Amino acid sequence: MDRGKQVKAVLARQGWSLRRVPSAGRIRFALGRAGTKRDLCDLSLAPLGDARRPLTPSVRLRARLLPGAALRNGERAGLEELRAALCAFLEPHGQAGPALGERHEGKGGRELLLRTTFACNQRCPFCFVPLTGRAATDSDISAELAALSRHRGPGAKLIISGGEPTVDPRLPVIISAAKLKGFRRFVLQTNAVRFAQGGLLERLLKLGVSDYMVSFHTHKPALYDRITGSRGQYAQAAAGLARLIRSRTSRVTVNVVVNKQNYRDLPGLIDFLGGLVQGRPKSRRVGVYFSMLNEAGHEKAPSWAVSLEAVRPYLDRAVENCGRLGLSVERFGSESSFPVCVLRSPEPYAARRAFAQDRVRYAEDFSGEAGGVGRAKRPSCRSCAYDARCQGVPAAYARMFGLKALGAVDA
Ligand code: SF4
Repeated sequence: MDRGKQVKAVLARQGWSLRRVPSAGRIRFALGRAGTKRDLCDLSLAPLGDARRPLTPSVRLRARLLPGAALRNGERAGLEELRAALCAFLEPHGQAGPALGERHEGKGGRELLLRTTFACNQRCPFCFVPLTGRAATDSDISAELAALSRHRGPGAKLIISGGEPTVDPRLPVIISAAKLKGFRRFVLQTNAVRFAQGGLLERLLKLGVSDYMVSFHTHKPALYDRITGSRGQYAQAAAGLARLIRSRTSRVTVNVVVNKQNYRDLPGLIDFLGGLVQGRPKSRRVGVYFSMLNEAGHEKAPSWAVSLEAVRPYLDRAVENCGRLGLSVERFGSESSFPVCVLRSPEPYAARRAFAQDRVRYAEDFSGEAGGVGRAKRPSCRSCAYDARCQGVPAAYARMFGLKALGAVDA
């Protein structure tokens, strides 16, 4: 459904009215019950991350219930739906300009990331990158490379991302330019569709790109279409991934975004990947990164979210299968990671380092909140052996499913 129609449909279903409220430098709305003059909720738009240079070029719509207002049965879900629809609708207006170069605190320390294009050959519903279809200009890329190279420490890797970087014909040239700026190690984030045929992969390997992070969320063709919002690309994606694994890449990490449509298939997906790695030397690692929808993903695609209780048995079996089949499991150390307490044996998968906890709120019940706080943990998490090394779950998750699945692990 068209995004504007989606907003109107929620308003009509709930019997609500929405009006724009003048506000200097901000986009702001008042939500009320249709036919009454009393406002129920204040909605205001804020960029995610740093307002000048958002780490994830996306927006968040904060919803604040007005004093004395209360939501009736079913209205909370309606408000979440409205917020997600408005967020997607307003996103292009909320951007402070595309964030090409990003610096993240990753599980291994500082990560430098360059988005070369905002075009993609797929449309995963939970993707947080605004796909404008445009590639970054040559001069923007050059300026970002110069800026990123100033933060390059010893051994730094440059992560090339998008959109889908392989749809950009300039990719080899961009990597050559990065090498001139002193970068030597690269990670390419891709869906691998363009690697099904020879040519591009071989060129990239020759340029020294030997580390790949591949989004591959299911081994079932029909489900692949649904999850990636594409049609008929499964065979190419699977062939591209197989070629990567057979080639002289030093490392391939398969990123599986666990969602409501694929969680039951996780053990089967790992069996499928196990078949691909047969015969590959152990020194050239193939890993699996199990991720959950991040904050923006929960906000944009709430119907794709799934509870940790539901995922837990399948995730445990998938992790076990990885061990049996020679696949490594990436540590659970980013904002997209699951909290390790969902696993039967957390220790081998916990992040090695501590994270700042300034975006985490410790509370038992998030259901009364309609926006704002970034990450959620239970008060009992303070006694968990992994508290410092865990970023909890997105607050949007906590509002949808509660936090009963989180259980402190003894030190
Ligand atoms: S700190 Fe909380 S969320 Fe994180 S692993 Fe421990 S119990 Fe789970």
